[in-house]
Amino acid sequence: MSDTPTAHALDRSKELFGRAQQLLPGGVSSPVRAFQAVGGTPVFFARGKGGEAFDEDGNRYVDYCMSWGPLALGHAHPAVVEAVQTTAAKGTSFGTPTREEVGLAELVTQLQPRAERVRFVSSGTEAVMSAVRVARGYTGRDLVVKFDGCYHGHADYLLVKAGSGLATAGQPDSAGVPASMTSTTVVLPLDDEAAVSEFFAQRGREVAAVLVEPVPANCGLLVQRAEWLQHLRAECTKAGALLIYDEVISGFRLGAQGAAGLLGGEPDLMTYGKVIGGGLPVGAYAGRKEIMEVVAPLGPVYQAGTLSGNPVAMAAGVAALTTLRDGGWDQLERNAQTLDGLLRPLFAEHPAELVRVGSIFWIAFQQPAPRSWGAIDRSGAERYTLLHRELLQRGVYLAPSAYEVFFVSTAHTQAQLEETAAAFREALAVAFGGAA
Ligand SMILES: *Cc1c(COP(=O)(O)O)cnc(C)c1O
Repeated sequence: MSDTPTAHALDRSKELFGRAQQLLPGGVSSPVRAFQAVGGTPVFFARGKGGEAFDEDGNRYVDYCMSWGPLALGHAHPAVVEAVQTTAAKGTSFGTPTREEVGLAELVTQLQPRAERVRFVSSGTEAVMSAVRVARGYTGRDLVVKFDGCYHGHADYLLVKAGSGLATAGQPDSAGVPASMTSTTVVLPLDDEAAVSEFFAQRGREVAAVLVEPVPANCGLLVQRAEWLQHLRAECTKAGALLIYDEVISGFRLGAQGAAGLLGGEPDLMTYGKVIGGGLPVGAYAGRKEIMEVVAPLGPVYQAGTLSGNPVAMAAGVAALTTLRDGGWDQLERNAQTLDGLLRPLFAEHPAELVRVGSIFWIAFQQPAPRSWGAIDRSGAERYTLLHRELLQRGVYLAPSAYEVFFVSTAHTQAQLEETAAAFREALAVAFGGAA
């Protein structure tokens, strides 16, 4: 194990990645993990504790990827580990209703009163797919409106102009998706009231749902105006369409009520993933009772899952949300403010901007920071590659793509945050070629 930034051997990661490439397409189970955007060998993490993680070679990192969002409490939080261990020891899955899923549903509905009914699934992708199906079943309409750059998981009809993974690969859309699948998907630009009004004037009565990341965080962090979200609400109400907030990344990270609580706009349905499972595979969709009751077995919209509501995953979710409720969110905001205070002055010395919403951060390599996908200066990606490499060598782990955000947790210590700032100071100077 090494604490020094210079001793950064990746022999074991390289060896494992070589084996992985013979077995898994690209050596990974999810594309951006392959480091193609930033180059070099993907780091194989072996263990983590709090704000730090250790790779297979024993290198230590202050981790800001945090499993791409789920770990609001950091790695191996004692309450989550204990919940997983005690629950797993009693049996890992039953296929019956369990106490644990009732417990998580109680927590979710207490924390977020807009969630009058909740259905658990196993991923964010599944949550969004199911919520859209509910909206279509409830309204009897087909069209779904989404926004350029927003990612909603990898359902066929939502893989259109969908942010980081595709953007990193330089593709607008995925191959393997028949045009017929996306013919009922309409893509509009973010941050543009007129585009929404114009579309709704023409075809509002065909729209089942407007689906939006209220805090778009999968194509950089494109902070939206609350008025724009209010505008979506107003158009949906007028047209009899549902408004779905995809809170897979923002839910239970930006406080109890997520982006809906922060920005308003009053969604009819919300989708969850990431933080809600405390690091285990959990997704959920939730919303108004009369809408959610179209779901089977009460209504005609079918949706099911063998491992849905899995007790071990539910117990992890209960532990995570309870810990966040009991002071966790306050700690998260304090840590986010501390990191912001340390990093922002460093960015002021360069033509870049630190963007933050709560504990979600992004580096925009332009000023002012963009609010829409089309406004992102693509040349920032090269700068990010340099920055990422320099930070990695100094023991700070960020997601390996310029279009990904990074996350602080409740577990990052003051010392780790200061160490991060010191690494950023040096890495920024290198990345900007002494422009400081
Ligand atoms: C991560 C994410 C998803 C997909 O969730 P998975 O668990 O990866 O399937 C969907 N929507 C948003 C906003 C996300 O951030």
